Amino acid sequence: MPIFALIDGNSFYASCEAVFNPSIWNRPVVVLSNNDGCIVAANARAKAIGPIAFKPLYQVEKYLKQHNTAIFSSNYELYADMSSRMHSIVGSFAPNQEIYSIDESFLDLSGMSWNLTDYAQQIKQLVRKSIGIPVAVGIGKSKTLAKAANHLAKKIERHNGVLDLSSLSEDAIDQLLSRMDVGSVWGVGRKLTPRLKNIGIHTALDLKQMDRNHARRNFSVVLQTTVDELNGIARIKFDEVIANKQQIISSRSFGTPVTDLHSMQEAVATYTARAALKLRRQHTQCMQLGVMITTNIHKSNEPQYSNWHYIELRYPSNSTNELIHISRQALRSIYKEGYRYKKAMVVLNDIRESAPIQIDLFNPQLRDTKRDEKLMSAYDLINRRMGGRTIQFAAEGTSNFKQQRTDWQMNRNRLSSRATTRWGELKIVI
Ligand SMILES: [Mg+2]
Repeated sequence: MPIFALIDGNSFYASCEAVFNPSIWNRPVVVLSNNDGCIVAANARAKAIGPIAFKPLYQVEKYLKQHNTAIFSSNYELYADMSSRMHSIVGSFAPNQEIYSIDESFLDLSGMSWNLTDYAQQIKQLVRKSIGIPVAVGIGKSKTLAKAANHLAKKIERHNGVLDLSSLSEDAIDQLLSRMDVGSVWGVGRKLTPRLKNIGIHTALDLKQMDRNHARRNFSVVLQTTVDELNGIARIKFDEVIANKQQIISSRSFGTPVTDLHSMQEAVATYTARAALKLRRQHTQCMQLGVMITTNIHKSNEPQYSNWHYIELRYPSNSTNELIHISRQALRSIYKEGYRYKKAMVVLNDIRESAPIQIDLFNPQLRDTKRDEKLMSAYDLINRRMGGRTIQFAAEGTSNFKQQRTDWQMNRNRLSSRATTRWGELKIVI
């Protein structure tokens, strides 16, 4: 039975600001959008002042100042950096992690036999201790339930930031879901909420009890999926979220520690290729690429090192070719010999809609974007038709880390050779 955890930073942007600024720990804090236009984030104290979310600053500024509110411009570099650190700590607690947004990731906790509430407390405490960011952890038998648990863990104080719905009886779950507004259920948007309320569905419990066929006929397949998920039937698998993500992160833990630059380059190239594909699938390009590498923070007897490097692109891009080139550059500037690396991560930021590039005629390094675009669409087409990763960039390599990475912590000693799909397991005839 699948068990999902969702780890989500509390008022993430505001919390990032507070980490390095103790003078605001007990004050309301808000963060503004680009060009200081609107309020995009607020901590609990600021939220308590009144409905300020997404309001233009000039409308509420006087009000905020009366309450001694600290007001910040968006420090995107800081948030992205704190985000990578947070995701990397969280990811060390499970073999599979899906990074969903700048401050949220899912972990696959299936098959873990220990007390998950205690385990979630450990996650929460390690993030707090390591980088100073408060998080809440929600656990459930589906992603939608994990999201709901997270929401409730934040709302109901006595849960202390952790709620494991997977260990509760159906009655206890229903009791909790009856306290949650239907509009807060994952996947139920602002548009859908009034329509549901019109037909008497006000809470998450009401939606759980809705007839699934009725949901499909009168609303959509998506809503039917949500009804199933609330009933503990996992329909949304790992990494299947369709969203125009503001940030794309591709990362995995290695099956065995990586100790040489060559393997690390291949890993980073592979993650870059995966992230670039996501960019193209959602018809977007990015302006910034970051690479992060880290040793195993749970092995205190081993020398520890982690570092990251971000590079600003000259032009927005979604070309695997170009992004691999840039990620290699970033990796070279942080890689150090002599460590046993556990994990690498590639982060794409400043994501925008694909658009024709404004060509700078005076730039001597002008790349042939048309040629690159054609190459990438042929590449995507072949992989789509022929399945999976029929072709790939040589930089992604053919070495071992790929075969091993999903095996981390998994007992697959009896797995037969995958000679038809894995270079490393090709039959050798002498
Ligand atoms: Mg959050």
